[in-house]
Amino acid sequence: MSHDIQALDRAHYLHPFSDFKALGEEGCRVIVGAEGVYIIDDQGNRILDGMAGLWCVNLGYGREELVDAATRQMHELPYYNSFFKTTHLPAVKLAETLCRLAPAHINRVFFTGSGSEANDTVLRMVRRYWALKGRPDKQVVIARENAYHGSTVAGMSLGGMAPMHAQGGPLVPGICHIRQPYWFDESSGQNPEAFGRDCAAALEEKILALGEDKVAAFIAEPVQGAGGAIIPPDSYWPAVKAVLDKYDILLVVDEVICGFGRLGEWFGSVHYGLEPDLMPIAKGLSSGYLPIGGVLVGDRVAETLIEEGGEFFHGFTYSGHPTCAAVALKNLELMEAEGVVERVRDDLGPYLAQRWAELAEHPLVGEARSLGLIGALELIDPATGERFDKSLGVGNLCRDICFASGLVMRSVGDTMIISPPLVIQHGEIDELVTKARAALDETARRLA
Ligand code: PLP
Repeated sequence: MSHDIQALDRAHYLHPFSDFKALGEEGCRVIVGAEGVYIIDDQGNRILDGMAGLWCVNLGYGREELVDAATRQMHELPYYNSFFKTTHLPAVKLAETLCRLAPAHINRVFFTGSGSEANDTVLRMVRRYWALKGRPDKQVVIARENAYHGSTVAGMSLGGMAPMHAQGGPLVPGICHIRQPYWFDESSGQNPEAFGRDCAAALEEKILALGEDKVAAFIAEPVQGAGGAIIPPDSYWPAVKAVLDKYDILLVVDEVICGFGRLGEWFGSVHYGLEPDLMPIAKGLSSGYLPIGGVLVGDRVAETLIEEGGEFFHGFTYSGHPTCAAVALKNLELMEAEGVVERVRDDLGPYLAQRWAELAEHPLVGEARSLGLIGALELIDPATGERFDKSLGVGNLCRDICFASGLVMRSVGDTMIISPPLVIQHGEIDELVTKARAALDETARRLA
């Protein structure tokens, strides 16, 4: 059975973010089921999913309520669009719920099918906004190196992933990147708060170099996820906010990972006290059960688009898809009823922080950090206290050892990252930490 799947996979399936040839030669692990915080492979192994799929299965696997919501909606109205003066209840109720959960100045949402589409929408809205304000030259969006904002051409251009840019052909014009607030790798040991302020100063320098009349928006994730679970120093966001206010530049906070409880608030922006003009969302919105994303639009931008904009020539076949919206709505209802976000803030986040910090004592670990239910371990060579030579692929080695021993922990270079389902229990956090430690031990043994 497994052999057949491998052969078919090799013959026909081009996987995302994969070396097609190498994957064909090595084969894949086949996942056949999942429950709670575990995925199950075709050999019957139960693997603790320390990444909640791709940072999205916030309510965990096997929630019948979400299955029922989809089934009911598919019987009633499986699909209809909201183009051309039509609407339907699931999308309207979801929009209302999202605006209630979002910061008070956000009262509108535009739906998309994914986070990438949400960021394409952001770029269109930002440029349209300034054009309507009579400032069409304000077009440039400043983003950050090593950020991830999706895989469409606009998402990839907004993102700061060098390997993606190298393959992407000409990027969307009018996007530039500044340094990221990655203290462990880029501070040369500077005091974290001073480093955070310096990274914010880089934003001001870029604005002045471009001319403030050219800059439309700044986009960033509250905590960089795919870049390596990079938690900025506390000084960073207040300093960024001050710069943006000074020059009248829109703030776009990409909440695709940090939204829906990951940092212990409904949105990462709330944790950092930000009032974004636009917030792209996806992933945890439906706990990944069905694909749906969107852009939460603050009053300043929404009112201009509505009052002065006329028709906005933009939308997707699956914008506000009724079945996806019904599942997202049920997901948010369950999260509210079960107090999931508060539990991350008051209980699970602090517990993970305490247990995760213990791993900092491991000789391979240069830093163990976490916030809410996102965390990272920076791997270093104990002999030198520096990073390993990249060609050794130590992060990938550790990741593969983890997987083989029953834990999904992702590697970004030599940074190991976790982002487990928000319904994880204390005992499962203990198991995660125990397995991570064992994987570090085995990694060290193989390198010796
Ligand atoms: N923005 C961020 C911060 C992400 O992490 C991702 C995906 O990982 C995206 C956008 C793109 O979302 P999607 O894969 O749904 O297109």
